[in-house]
Amino acid sequence: MKIYEFTQIFPNEYSCRMHLKAFREKEGIVCKKCSCSKHYWLQSKWQWQCSECRFRTTLRSGTIMESAKLPFYKWYLCMAFMSSTKKGVSALEMQRQLGHKRYRTIWVLMHKIRSGMGKRDDKYTLERSVELDEGYFEITAPSTVRLKRDRCSQSKTNVAVMAESTPLEDIETGEKSSQFRYAKMKVLTSHKAIDINGIAKNNIEKESLIITDKSTS
Ligand SMILES: [Zn+2]
Repeated sequence: MKIYEFTQIFPNEYSCRMHLKAFREKEGIVCKKCSCSKHYWLQSKWQWQCSECRFRTTLRSGTIMESAKLPFYKWYLCMAFMSSTKKGVSALEMQRQLGHKRYRTIWVLMHKIRSGMGKRDDKYTLERSVELDEGYFEITAPSTVRLKRDRCSQSKTNVAVMAESTPLEDIETGEKSSQFRYAKMKVLTSHKAIDINGIAKNNIEKESLIITDKSTS
């Protein structure tokens, strides 16, 4: 969704809250205390109340927004920015776009959204012909040391990159190429075969053909 379209559909905090409320009701609210699924909506409190035990469920409860105080509008806007740019947005740029005071809050916000998106992607596995290789990514994380809180530390992380690719061959020229469909990336904890095999098993369908380089692992 483009930012212009986003601002048309979600002009304020209220519209974001109502959207989340409708979405959660469609999924179904289940009481944490008694597992009952029948609830009443308390508009003034922005909470659902269980019809059995009267336990209350907030809009944020059970979502990636739980335990965060940031307005829903900022969450939504951040997600819109993250999904509308092809190149990705830095936390510093996001902080500027959202007009937020603290860098760390925005960094955590983006991290939570990314991990939420990853959880959604975990539901899908790659199939048919899959290319699998290892790659390195530079990672930037705010330092946990108090005085240097907003400064960044850089390091590299090892990542398994898997891409569904169909090998193609031009009948006339004999030129070989491949067509890509979906890709997944998973952080590797080691270079060991057992680690890489585990990731392949969890993310690629059983009958698939895996194409990889000459790595022994
Ligand atoms: Zn209940």
